[in-house]
Amino acid sequence: MYIIMLGAPGSGKGTTAKVLAKEANLPHISTGDMFREQIKKDTKLGKLANTYISKGQLVPDEVTIDIVKDRLSWEDSKNGVILDGFPRTLEQAKALDEILMEQGKKVNVVPELIVPDDVIIDRILNRATCSNKECGAIYNTKFRPPKVEGICDICGSALVIRTDDNEQTIKSRLEVYRKNAKDLIDYYQEKGVLFKIEPEDPTADNASEQVVEKILEIMKKRK
Ligand code: AMP
Repeated sequence: MYIIMLGAPGSGKGTTAKVLAKEANLPHISTGDMFREQIKKDTKLGKLANTYISKGQLVPDEVTIDIVKDRLSWEDSKNGVILDGFPRTLEQAKALDEILMEQGKKVNVVPELIVPDDVIIDRILNRATCSNKECGAIYNTKFRPPKVEGICDICGSALVIRTDDNEQTIKSRLEVYRKNAKDLIDYYQEKGVLFKIEPEDPTADNASEQVVEKILEIMKKRK
């Protein structure tokens, strides 16, 4: 099954996608994580991506589509994937359809996470992520802090704050999301694959588990 997590930055789509990927036994593909890895390795792609990411802007479509196309050609993607942070533009959505069509596949379920702005901003400004790529656990230092400050509960690695998680970039990231989201939502609604998911209490400890359960139910019905 090909699942696309839609939602503003900080809506919990990354956390949800990770749990969902484990539950559904599908690879979790996050374009943001892929870019951050390239930045860390200081590659040409990383340098280019960083010029956009540091300003809260989108990396150009052709660059982003290329890395996703390559990732989707891997053997582990043949039965489906959980896409997180891609597509972000209509161009990307159409390119994804073409890539999948070539393999006789299509997008099956698009959950859209709906979370109020104040919760989003609060989450982003209190977000810490495990520096171990294999783990990548996400914490909220206010609502869901690690047991030991700065250390991941799961693997013991140091927690880091994303350089783009600050008040300057969050405003432009939310603006960019809103500008493009409408087109994406209309596009997937027309295809009958969009499901709006509103956590009852987005600040609750088990908010992401509830969201995952709802998505798994939808996936079962769509099989
Ligand atoms: P994320 O981790 O999904 O919040 O992504 C972090 C940043 O990476 C975004 O603010 C963009 O600058 C860039 N990025 C991630 N995914 C995409 C995409 N699909 N298209 C363009 N830029 C992206």
